[in-house]
Amino acid sequence: MDDLRYGRRNKRGDWSPNEPLQIAPFYRLPWNARDILAWAKAYFFPWSVAWMAIALIYWNFLTPSVETMKTISPGWVLFIFARNAAALLLFFGAIELRLYVKRSQGAQFKYNGKFPADNKSDVFMFRSQTIDGAIRTFGTGVPIWTAYEVLILWCYANGYGAWTTFADHPIWFIALWLAIPIWHEFHFYCVHRPIHLPFLYKHIHSIHHNSVNPSPWSSLSMHPIEQALFFSSCLLFLIIPAHPVFALFQLNFSAMGSIVGHIGYDKMVFNEDTPIDVNGYNHYLHHKYFEVNYGDGSVPIDKIMGTFHDGTPAYDDILDQRMKKRRDKLAAKAQR
Ligand SMILES: [Zn+2]
Ligand SMILES: [Zn+2]
Repeated sequence: MDDLRYGRRNKRGDWSPNEPLQIAPFYRLPWNARDILAWAKAYFFPWSVAWMAIALIYWNFLTPSVETMKTISPGWVLFIFARNAAALLLFFGAIELRLYVKRSQGAQFKYNGKFPADNKSDVFMFRSQTIDGAIRTFGTGVPIWTAYEVLILWCYANGYGAWTTFADHPIWFIALWLAIPIWHEFHFYCVHRPIHLPFLYKHIHSIHHNSVNPSPWSSLSMHPIEQALFFSSCLLFLIIPAHPVFALFQLNFSAMGSIVGHIGYDKMVFNEDTPIDVNGYNHYLHHKYFEVNYGDGSVPIDKIMGTFHDGTPAYDDILDQRMKKRRDKLAAKAQR
């Protein structure tokens, strides 16, 4: 498949899409039905539907009984840890294997033309972005994800949290499914923006940004404090009426879904005619430029705060001006 039908490649070999990144169509007037339909498709497929399917499989087949979960015990806690670790290994591992080990697609649709494995760096353990990311993912990421999950399931099993059913509140359940991705993104912005403040960036968030050219195992490669903040979005389910399956959906959105912005490719090609859109350009640009796109574009906070970047040279200029203003301000402060 010729990726130059969809975008262009610069001298360094970096590919970028022809269409600049846009915020969700609801915030652009006049409303355009085609844009809204395309956005709605990307809102569900392939990711949101996949995370819900996994949550349903977890709840129905891979979660201990409510009776068991009334008491915390190593048996079921370890089972949940093993199930989460195995799912992540299979899913992240399959994408890593296809795109970064076998390089089945080469640099087709790849934002950064280089492969991290070809540029060993001292910032990573064992000088490898992949090994470093995998150690942080399984060392602290999956345990923290599991700890939240165990807490929520234990609470539900013991009557804390408002456990409701689809039969009782069908409209609320559908609304909740539609709203969870928005909540996820809003929460992500709220925990992500502060860790870009210099002190917190230096001590916490810089670990995640060591991956300037992200790949699948960069997704949860974070300081444990950042992981704890990142997964805390599920605590909402201790407050609002819902079903445990929504908490599992939210946790999968964070855990499995973290890969979306770190795949590094705009599309995955499985057959020549229909490449699958990854929808991760927004967060790729965040890794590339650091000071833009703190959110993911469904909630237009970056646009409102002036930190949006659509991938075009026009926004490079806006970013340059913003950085210059900041430098001038800091220099003036230092002189005072
Ligand atoms: Zn990231
Ligand atoms: Zn960041």
